[in-house]
Amino acid sequence: SPSRVLVTGGAGYIGSHVLHALTDAGIPAVTIDNLSTGRRAAVPAAVPLIEGDVGSASLLEQVMREHRVDAVMHFAGSIVVPESVERPLAYYRNNTVNSLTLMDCCVRLGIDRMVFSSTAAVYGDAERVPIDEDSPTRPINPYGTSKLMTEQMLRDAGAAHGLRSVILRYFNVAGADPAGRTGQATPAATHLIKVACQALLGRRPPLAIFGTDYPTPDGTCIRDYIHVSDLADAHVLALLHLRRGGESLVLNCGYGRGASVREVLRTLEAVSGEQVPARLAERRPGDPPQLVAGADRIRQRLGWVPRHDTLEEIVRSALAWERSLEPGPQRAG
Ligand code: UDP
Repeated sequence: SPSRVLVTGGAGYIGSHVLHALTDAGIPAVTIDNLSTGRRAAVPAAVPLIEGDVGSASLLEQVMREHRVDAVMHFAGSIVVPESVERPLAYYRNNTVNSLTLMDCCVRLGIDRMVFSSTAAVYGDAERVPIDEDSPTRPINPYGTSKLMTEQMLRDAGAAHGLRSVILRYFNVAGADPAGRTGQATPAATHLIKVACQALLGRRPPLAIFGTDYPTPDGTCIRDYIHVSDLADAHVLALLHLRRGGESLVLNCGYGRGASVREVLRTLEAVSGEQVPARLAERRPGDPPQLVAGADRIRQRLGWVPRHDTLEEIVRSALAWERSLEPGPQRAG
């Protein structure tokens, strides 16, 4: 049997796009997911889905042995910033402690390649944009800290045990698989493009535009939105880099350019020909005015060439995916 890459959280939004990208590239994978927020239907048929917890060392070891795992991509984790402020210890357990367990299993079984989902939240309030990878890391919430602590463990485990890693720091991930095979399925999601699509389809109340008096050209916040399928491609390239024997890397994932909240809404309206129901609202605490990636390094080091890097394509795919979902009562998660 072939060696497989173990993907934790492969039933979730980003993990499922990566499983499809791996499968498209002919790379065998296996996934562990507890289906707390993920969906079985998001996992490609060719990929074994083991329902369980990545906090369980015995389960991890069993799966690693049975599927001859030679590399890990670690997506499973919690991502809601305000929730991390209210329940920090749950975030440190889910994100930091479980990552430690996973690394420990890798070291014990001699698996020396890991691709890790980190976040621009490790930078905290950026002094200037674009933010390159050498910018200071000063997270301002437990979510960002839980990811930064895992980054530190990876660096130390690399030096001590030869565990090589590619740390990918995501900026604002959005959109859906252009072929419609998967997308962001959690109805209670809070991200701008998802919420705007739901509002446009009348599946939630009008969008609140959080703050219109920021020091930006149109007064709304600017973010670097990256198409989830381009992000998935970056993961495949990161895996190939490690399998070639490449060294550990820390890479921003973004396009290096920003769009404001108003620009996003205008693009969605242009793509759909409909008005997005929206109202002006107070600033949301903790939102920095601008977050834009310094995005040269990932192109240089991985040869990454994005294929879906327009706001139109991002919102068009997000809306198409949203339309394909059953409109129903909001479920938790
Ligand atoms: N935003 C908004 N209304 C919403 C959700 C988000 O105005 O319902 C704004 C938010 O204030 C920020 C931008 O959209 O300026 C992106 O927010 P999101 O939560 O998507 O990502 P974040 O940058 O916080 O990770």
